[in-house]
Amino acid sequence: MSTSPTARIYRPTPRNLAFLANVLARGGIVAAPTETVYGLAADARNAKACRDVFRAKGRPANDPLIVHVNSLDQAGEVAALNDAARSLAKAFWPGPLTLVLPKQPGVPAIVTSGLESVAVRMPAHTLFRELIERSGCPLAAPSANPFGYISPTTAAHVRDGLGQRIKYILDGGSAQIGVESTILDLRNPSKPAILRPGSISREAMEMVLERKVAAYTRKAPAHTAAPAPGMLERHYSPRTPLTLVDKLAPAFLHKLANNEAVLFVHQPRLSQQTPNVFWLANHGEELMAAAHNLFNQLRMLDSGGWTQIHAELAPGSSALALAINDRLSRAAAKRGPA
Ligand code: AMP
Ligand code: MG
Repeated sequence: MSTSPTARIYRPTPRNLAFLANVLARGGIVAAPTETVYGLAADARNAKACRDVFRAKGRPANDPLIVHVNSLDQAGEVAALNDAARSLAKAFWPGPLTLVLPKQPGVPAIVTSGLESVAVRMPAHTLFRELIERSGCPLAAPSANPFGYISPTTAAHVRDGLGQRIKYILDGGSAQIGVESTILDLRNPSKPAILRPGSISREAMEMVLERKVAAYTRKAPAHTAAPAPGMLERHYSPRTPLTLVDKLAPAFLHKLANNEAVLFVHQPRLSQQTPNVFWLANHGEELMAAAHNLFNQLRMLDSGGWTQIHAELAPGSSALALAINDRLSRAAAKRGPA
């Protein structure tokens, strides 16, 4: 990686796609959209390229990457697929489900942080799939943001965070889903367990597998060799202090200082306009809209000069509610001792 590149944003023309795929095939790193968030991609078989991804993000080496593939065959080159993985792939790929499986020998240790398992998924975004197809590489890609900060859902977010550290950003508009994939541990297919909540629900996976799937818990399971990044207490974090409120009542607004902002999940019904009130979804919109807007709103609030953000948790226990609340809780977690 050169010392201080300035990122250029590429429109998704066939010519630019061919160019960026070639950058990847030659061991370069490229930020590109997926349907969840923007990823910072590198050839997953190229240890040096993957090291550049860790470096650009400032990501600790004990934080393994997800490998993105374009076919079941390619998934099989990266991970040892079992029947459970094949069934889930058939039901949910391409899509926001990542499977943790025993790794194949060709995956360099840096990608898996030395673990014998690898995380693999087939993304649904056509541009990302095209980069995999044209480059011929399985692509290791964490979110395209400095480690620990709010995940990027637009090309501009990527440039804001990594503009001085990478050269190439592919613009695919705003990421449709807006929160990262569900991660399922399938190393032992008779004991599937959710490692990170996302938009694919536990119930939907149980239907396909015809067995119980262990719900996500904030504590790392005992058999996990190293703490996985999705399990870091503090992540997705704005610089502005963030506190969570179970359910924001409009009366809460009376106690606020002028320089404090509140973030509702749904647009509140208020008698008057208040400049420090924000929301993730409009009246009548589903949680899908809230997930889609989550990281963008947090970024906007973070650059709004507020001294404090109070955010409401999403109601219910749907997959999206769990995913949104997981990201909000990590975003609100206190910085640990330095
Ligand atoms: P990110 O790249 O920020 O979306 O995070 C990658 C996620 O993949 C983390 O949340 C990890 O929990 C998970 N992950 C990647 N590789 C492995 C692995 N080998 N075993 C367990 N979890 C993994
Ligand atoms: Mg990330």
